[in-house]
Amino acid sequence: MCGVIGILGSYPLRMSRELLLLLAHRGQDAAGLLWIEGDRAIDGKSIGSPSLIRLPDTSSNQILGSTRYPTSGKRVASEEDLNTFVGPFKVNAITLTHNGNITNMASVSEKQFDCDGEFLAERLSFHLENNSGDLPEAFRKLEAEVDGSYSLAGFYNGLLFAYRDSHGFKPLVFGRSSERTIVASESTVLDMGGVPLERDVYPGELLVFGNGGKMESYSISQNANHSHCFFEYVYFAHPAATIENQLVYDVRFRLGRALAQTFKKLHLDKPDYVVPVPDTSRPAAQAMAETLDVPIREIILKNRYLGRTFIVRTQEERDAMARSKYIYLDGKIRGKNILVVDDSIVRGTTAKMIVADLRKRGAAKVYFAVTCPPQAHPCYYGIDISTDRELIASTSSVNSIAEYIETDALIYQEEHTLENSIGIKDLCLACLDGDYPTEHARSIRKGIQQQGSKPNERDYERDFSQ
Ligand code: SF4
Repeated sequence: MCGVIGILGSYPLRMSRELLLLLAHRGQDAAGLLWIEGDRAIDGKSIGSPSLIRLPDTSSNQILGSTRYPTSGKRVASEEDLNTFVGPFKVNAITLTHNGNITNMASVSEKQFDCDGEFLAERLSFHLENNSGDLPEAFRKLEAEVDGSYSLAGFYNGLLFAYRDSHGFKPLVFGRSSERTIVASESTVLDMGGVPLERDVYPGELLVFGNGGKMESYSISQNANHSHCFFEYVYFAHPAATIENQLVYDVRFRLGRALAQTFKKLHLDKPDYVVPVPDTSRPAAQAMAETLDVPIREIILKNRYLGRTFIVRTQEERDAMARSKYIYLDGKIRGKNILVVDDSIVRGTTAKMIVADLRKRGAAKVYFAVTCPPQAHPCYYGIDISTDRELIASTSSVNSIAEYIETDALIYQEEHTLENSIGIKDLCLACLDGDYPTEHARSIRKGIQQQGSKPNERDYERDFSQ
């Protein structure tokens, strides 16, 4: 996942950095802004938070922004890396910023790319050159050759464009006023940028905006079944964001209500407190507390000043970082039955650590509720969980996971209650059921089943033809 913004219409650069900060949760590796000054494209980039991007005190009519989460290439470690790994990118007449993950770069182009955003800009530029500068036609060619997820914003000939792949994996919304048009990964950016949310960009739709709010819509690719990433609602997106007409907060609240019903059926001792693991699971914990008539207590607090201060290299450093992530309200734990609510269990190490920390502080019972069903398959579309070995649910049953994290009861969301809570059809559930919606992802899966994963290598970066 990454965050993107595109702004057409005069806007202060330093304010656009504030808008980008609203997408910092979508990518904490690095951030970039690109703006047009006369006929020059200028950029500013930073390792970590967008707040570190240095900007002049001026405005621009054309601005693109990006927060980076690494799903291809490595983590950004130096100023040099910023140029190759972090968008927005400029290739000839195209400037572009991208959210998603392209899985078949090597089979489309012989050139090696450090970042799929640069790959997309290069391919689009190539197709423009070969199609007399016709943007919709260039997107048709692009859509036909690439596999993966991509929601993007960019500029071509002074026009702002927005495109969402035909599966609609990643969110992309837009809004217009008489002064400016904004395209963004999440609707909160539009609120702060002073334009009302108009709607989502439809899957397979290219939007081209001109000055004064002019807009043209082109149907590039039709896909009968869309595959909106369910994990956006569970974890990625800000609770104040509206995606596909669903407020993310409301979805998380409904997920909590559904989990509470499952909890009731287990007839366990009543918890004294419902405790969210900050921050994503708060709405679900509120709903569980209301439904079970149990108070909610924030006895697990996030160490909010633990930023991206260093690149962890050793297991010891990783363990130390995990331990310093949470602070506990010690006096509220002894002798209590505690129902912890978290958004997901990936490797199981954080859940195990939280249960152990609560027991160490005298908790009588620790139940663990998870708003997401077990994730047993890797994601090839934009989260960096690219191999089975990173997922405890790929090899362990729910009972084994409960034993491993040493909880008194483990309560997972069920797939049908997840779908009902989100309230829209056409979801990607591939990391739950292994049913990948794109062809190349299915062939990667087949290759892995035949040849196995390799250590230190992402499945989708493998070449299975060798
Ligand atoms: S595999 Fe899972 S995380 Fe990845 S896009 Fe699909 S639903 Fe989202």
